[in-house]
Amino acid sequence: MSILDKTITLHDLKFVPYLSEEKVSKVIDEIAAQLNQEFRNEVPVFIGVLNGSFMFVSEILKRFQYDCEVSFIKLKSYDGVTSSGDVQEILGLEQSVVNRTVIVLEDIIDTGTTLEALLEILGNKNCKQVKVASLFLKPEVYTKKYKIDYVGMNIPDRFIVGYGLDYNGLGRNLTSVYQLKSEKMTNLVLFGPPGAGKGTQAEVLKDTYNLVHISTGDVFRYNIKNATELGTLAKSYIDKGQLVPDEVTINMLNAEVEKNLEAKGFIFDGFPRTAAQADALENLLSAKGVSVSAMVALEVNDEVLVQRLLERGKTSGRADDADESVIRNRIKVYYDETAILKEYYQKQDKYFGIDGIGAIDEITTRLSTVIDTL
Ligand code: AMP
Repeated sequence: MSILDKTITLHDLKFVPYLSEEKVSKVIDEIAAQLNQEFRNEVPVFIGVLNGSFMFVSEILKRFQYDCEVSFIKLKSYDGVTSSGDVQEILGLEQSVVNRTVIVLEDIIDTGTTLEALLEILGNKNCKQVKVASLFLKPEVYTKKYKIDYVGMNIPDRFIVGYGLDYNGLGRNLTSVYQLKSEKMTNLVLFGPPGAGKGTQAEVLKDTYNLVHISTGDVFRYNIKNATELGTLAKSYIDKGQLVPDEVTINMLNAEVEKNLEAKGFIFDGFPRTAAQADALENLLSAKGVSVSAMVALEVNDEVLVQRLLERGKTSGRADDADESVIRNRIKVYYDETAILKEYYQKQDKYFGIDGIGAIDEITTRLSTVIDTL
């Protein structure tokens, strides 16, 4: 089934799949595990913030293994109507929380206005302590000082529905999460030397932005594994850490793009690697009325790359990861033949260098910050 087939319409807007039910469930498992660990010796009061949190509250409660109580509060935000973003209590808290541990359960925190109002209300109720757990957080727009104790997932500032969240009342009953469909095509060239983390980041970004990930290295490996003609041809180059000839690679890339014509965009990972490939990509995309949106490059120094690849070689089963001289040759080929593409995209104001060292999710955030501006 293509991405388009899964598009849904709520009122006047189209939404595309963003997070599967399994993914959301896993995220909730992780929060629940922490809550079980930390609150096993007391009877916490969970407070769900209506309407959006009802599903999250239910899932947390199902996973909480000790005695607990649950209550709800309903707040309405007048953001946009009054300049101060006033929040009004619609359905008050009936539960006594004096001297109790309160765990606020929110479906999503964006600017934090609602949370701030709620914490003010709870601040006057002599609770023993107040903790906050949110299924989603939009760190780019969260402006308040309060620490969110348990965050299921940081997400970009995109409009989402499902799993309790709505668009004008609809969508709350969806068991997975959808995001607003953008009509613009986003085509990213994920760039950087071997071992920079392109594949790892592409796996995350393709879900976040609903893009089709094409890794030329992966397609070659698939062909090698299945002993196709293309695979046999490519293997002799790959095993030595050399580039597969342009003509072969470009034809293969064209075929992969043609297979995914209804995609919202692509992440090209490991392509282009030569100027001829970059020209071919431009021709291919312009024939479809689109272009490369940006080259996002992960910058990592060579010694870190060698160490990462040797480490990966212990489990990847890739011959070209197992031998240090092949690894060094791949890095050399990158500088000799591929690094010039930085200038190619810089000339078009499309090059964005990103520090590729740090925790995986930190690097994802750095990439998202750039991609969100495109
Ligand atoms: P990668 O998985 O991107 O590290 O690629 C592994 C190997 O596949 C490379 O060392 C090359 O031999 C070959 N390869 C992948 N992409 C390309 C490309 N765009 N042009 C030429 N060879 C490629």
